[in-house]
Amino acid sequence: MSWSLNIGSVAGTVVRIHLTFLLFLAWIFAASYASAGPATAFDTVLFIVLLFLCVLLHEFGHIFTARAFGVTTPYVTLLPIGGVAQLEHIPEKPSEEFLVAIAGPIVNVVIAGMLMLAGAHIDSGASADVGNAQVSMIDRLAAVNLFIALFNLIPAFPMDGGRVLRAALASRMGYVRATETAAAIGQAVAFVLGFIGLLYNPILIFIAIFVYLAASSEAHMVALRAASHGVPLVHAMMTQFAVLSPDAKISDAVHTLLSTSQGEFPVVDGTGKPLGVLGRNDLIRALNAKGPDSHVTDAMVADMPTVGHRSHLDQAFQLLQDKQAPAVGVIDATGRLIGLITQETIGEMMMLQAALPKGATLGPWSRPNAA
Ligand SMILES: [Zn+2]
Repeated sequence: MSWSLNIGSVAGTVVRIHLTFLLFLAWIFAASYASAGPATAFDTVLFIVLLFLCVLLHEFGHIFTARAFGVTTPYVTLLPIGGVAQLEHIPEKPSEEFLVAIAGPIVNVVIAGMLMLAGAHIDSGASADVGNAQVSMIDRLAAVNLFIALFNLIPAFPMDGGRVLRAALASRMGYVRATETAAAIGQAVAFVLGFIGLLYNPILIFIAIFVYLAASSEAHMVALRAASHGVPLVHAMMTQFAVLSPDAKISDAVHTLLSTSQGEFPVVDGTGKPLGVLGRNDLIRALNAKGPDSHVTDAMVADMPTVGHRSHLDQAFQLLQDKQAPAVGVIDATGRLIGLITQETIGEMMMLQAALPKGATLGPWSRPNAA
């Protein structure tokens, strides 16, 4: 579903591995197997496991620093480019974001320092040749930790350097403008990386493309989060929507789909409490697999994620992302469903945000024409 495997949890944070990270590890393994043969395969596996551990420790550098500022982290995902700790939110204060961002690379510098105290030597060859088993394990680990630290300090999203840069900018300008500026600088860095890649190393070109796309996606996400931040749900939720009863059949749902512009249908009981939600895709799949006479309760996503009506849009947005449900329900104090937040609602927020002057948000306190 999200291309990630859960491998356990540490202090309340679920550790996930993205499949591309496994592919990356497999590629390293295959490359060393092909160049040095089976004798070094075991050595390489050990190196990979330790490399993995260093990346994870880097992430927990971010996670524990964030926790010191009261921010919990439900997930950490390992990608080939490093790890991504999904902090519940990014600390508002630039100084806190700066510390959270820099904590990761510092962990790797500390690991490299400790390995060097333990006798590791770093020469220019070791860092370029981490797959070579002739170089001792401790030397390679020290080199790879320095590499992780330096790579993550490249001033471009999603690297920590991008966040460090944003935090530095955000202390002078607004958060959204700082993100836009940091993203633009990151894209310029991506161009330089790509150009160097053209001359020296084609792998850099792929990294440059990844960085370029990530920079624009970060700017997009921040604009979205900024647009939804602090906006009361009641201002943004859909209040006119069709619902399905638990004994409705798929044919009823098809009828509702055709007679409304809705794509997500909450299933509610007699008292108005949500039992689940049926998305357009689930509906089509059920129609195909089980026919029009099957029940909606068999096709819906049970446990529709819900938020209280006094919450803010960013909480609903977070739930929509985390639970990957077609819609988030808004409930009143008695648990009755009174509103709906879907990707479309968020998309409309995004459109409104794009229509606003740069740096302005939709929060009622800063609505540009409010006065
Ligand atoms: Zn990091």
